[in-house]
Amino acid sequence: MTNPDSIREIRINPIVPTESVLVATARNMRPRKSEDPAPRDTRKHVETCPFCKGNEDKTPPTIMTYPDESDWEIRIVENLYPVLGDDNRDDGLIFGLQQAIDGYGRHEVIIDHHQHGIAIHEMEQSHLKNLFSIYQERIKQLYQADDRLKFILAFKNFGPAAGASIPHTHSQIIAMPVVPENLYNEVQCSREYFKKQHRCIFCSLIDEALTYEATIYDRESGEVRRKISVGQYVVERGERFIAIKPFASRFEWEIHILPLSHQADFLKTSEEDLDDLARVLKRTMTRLDTVIGGAQYNYFLHSIPRADEFSDCESSFHWHLEICPRTSIPTGFELGSGLFVNTISPEDAAEQLRAVNLEQ
Ligand SMILES: [Zn+2]
Ligand SMILES: [Zn+2]
Ligand SMILES: [Zn+2]
Repeated sequence: MTNPDSIREIRINPIVPTESVLVATARNMRPRKSEDPAPRDTRKHVETCPFCKGNEDKTPPTIMTYPDESDWEIRIVENLYPVLGDDNRDDGLIFGLQQAIDGYGRHEVIIDHHQHGIAIHEMEQSHLKNLFSIYQERIKQLYQADDRLKFILAFKNFGPAAGASIPHTHSQIIAMPVVPENLYNEVQCSREYFKKQHRCIFCSLIDEALTYEATIYDRESGEVRRKISVGQYVVERGERFIAIKPFASRFEWEIHILPLSHQADFLKTSEEDLDDLARVLKRTMTRLDTVIGGAQYNYFLHSIPRADEFSDCESSFHWHLEICPRTSIPTGFELGSGLFVNTISPEDAAEQLRAVNLEQ
């Protein structure tokens, strides 16, 4: 059980030690809740929506459709407002990934589902599997087409709080000639851990989440302050994937999904794996939606980059999907200090998520 007393502690991200989070659950730390989100657009079809069926001529050219062009369920198109574009097109776009580059790359939109307002947890498991299989296929094609690309990010913004400008459910792929800083840090730090410990840190964290008991001692008296019990961070466990609540979560309801057995590269994930990923994702998102109601979130797929400098990271990096629900607006303190403030203890959040009864 979680200690009912409020917590105030700085937690170091075990993977990227330069990142830390202030977990502060006292009531006075909670004035920053965002306005209640606008009700989700649950319409199935919207006449004026460029991503709805029948409006295919209102989007940039189609790149790929699944299962076929006329009766598609998933469709990839060029992004109308790409953050990266073709070579030598100096139109002054500033690229928000902390590194100034020449703006070369690809930016594509994946219309996740033909139904306008459907949420991830409402999609069929088989559909989710196909969606991740399409991410895989498209990322492979892009890497093959251009060897200057170092990293391809698949991500999703769902809801206006998460930056989705078009309400029709969609995700995006950005192919870049650089490795963005947050991923760079993860790959670099996990490589250093591997050099010292001869183990993948992600595998270690999964084992810890499943097996061990951790004890937190009082710095002064040496007395036990809190015991963290077995499985405390596990939100959902499948046959091949696990959803865990990170110990140093930046966002109140942040959840990471990882393959249980070591794998650095999402592109090498098998069909059977994707099937279990779809199941774990659907169940996790159902839990989230039940607990926070109408989750607005971002998810990012972090897989090993194709950069030469990371060619030795197959054993040290472990691909994962980071789900970051947006339930509050960052404060000046957070933006200014770079220290995230999390007002719900990750142990508590995991417990609430686990408590959702999925069988009803
Ligand atoms: Zn639509
Ligand atoms: Zn691993
Ligand atoms: Zn990551």
